[in-house]
Amino acid sequence: MKYIRLGKSELNVSRVGFGGIPIMRVSYEEAEKCLLTAIELGINYIDTATDYGDSEEKIGKALKKLDRDKLVIATKSPPKDADHLEKCIDQSLKRMQIDEIDLYQFHCINNEDVLKRAIDLLPVLEKAKEKGKIRHIGATVHGVEFINKVLEMDAFETIMIALNFIVTEAAEVALPNARKKDVGVIAMKPMAGGHIDNANLAFKYFLDFDDIVPLVGIEKPEEIKQIVKILDDNIPANEGELREMETIRSEQGDRFCRRCEYCMPCEHGVKIFPMTIFKSFAARFPIKDLVSGNWIEIIESYSKCIQCGECEKKCPYNLGIREILKENSAYFRELQSQYCK
Ligand code: SF4
Ligand code: SF4
Repeated sequence: MKYIRLGKSELNVSRVGFGGIPIMRVSYEEAEKCLLTAIELGINYIDTATDYGDSEEKIGKALKKLDRDKLVIATKSPPKDADHLEKCIDQSLKRMQIDEIDLYQFHCINNEDVLKRAIDLLPVLEKAKEKGKIRHIGATVHGVEFINKVLEMDAFETIMIALNFIVTEAAEVALPNARKKDVGVIAMKPMAGGHIDNANLAFKYFLDFDDIVPLVGIEKPEEIKQIVKILDDNIPANEGELREMETIRSEQGDRFCRRCEYCMPCEHGVKIFPMTIFKSFAARFPIKDLVSGNWIEIIESYSKCIQCGECEKKCPYNLGIREILKENSAYFRELQSQYCK
């Protein structure tokens, strides 16, 4: 396993990190097996979030069997208000049963309001740093157009961007400035939220970047072994694999929602976003929670769609939004009939 310096944070992290979403779908024992396998293979960077269900607790339990000091533990919460942020930090420390979080990130900066709240709440993170609750500060950014705004704040030691071989624009936008400012880059969604089902291709794409840490989200120990081998072998994609990537990119490029929310609002009340990302959620989060929670109201809003197409005119990525909404609504109903009997 190769290790890289995560920008000016000076954290020395493995070439690939452990993403904390999929362990929400498995038992404590299975989550522990995944985590222990990852650590055995040399992974030392673990990334989770306040909003990932019981992920932090599962990580906390597994940490009891590990040398915590050899690991870099990151978590995050959305910037809401000072009270919420302080509570989230304390809660994460408690859930993971640790004294200090190595990297604390503002979660999901994807519009001006969230960005403004992040700016206002920076002193809260600085205070947590002084108190020794967190060591470094980062941000996770979904909208490409916010990447440089976040980097220009000069407030973060790391930035997490959505990057994969289908959606490459985040790297093109982020890397020059992040390198100039010595900000460490972490990549979420290496499998494009389920749009890529070939791990070999997905992770070979990252061989071109020796200063980006993709996060791997797995539910089974064998999956992490396969991915670490791809990175360790370090064999670049051959011509056939590059062609395959190109084919998938052309098939899926107009299906992958970048979460910019430019399509919103719909004047007929359809909750276009997050409906556009339902399948991606369903590929990673516990299905039972999805089909019985807030998603019901979101998906039901689709009944108000009059197929006017106005949302598609606003989408900078030319997504076939009407088709995606139709498919995701049908997929939700299918899952509901299976899981809500
Ligand atoms: S559908 Fe298009 S405009 Fe709407 S959030 Fe996704 S990428 Fe952005
Ligand atoms: S097609 Fe029209 S009604 Fe339907 S979601 Fe888009 S903007 Fe709303």
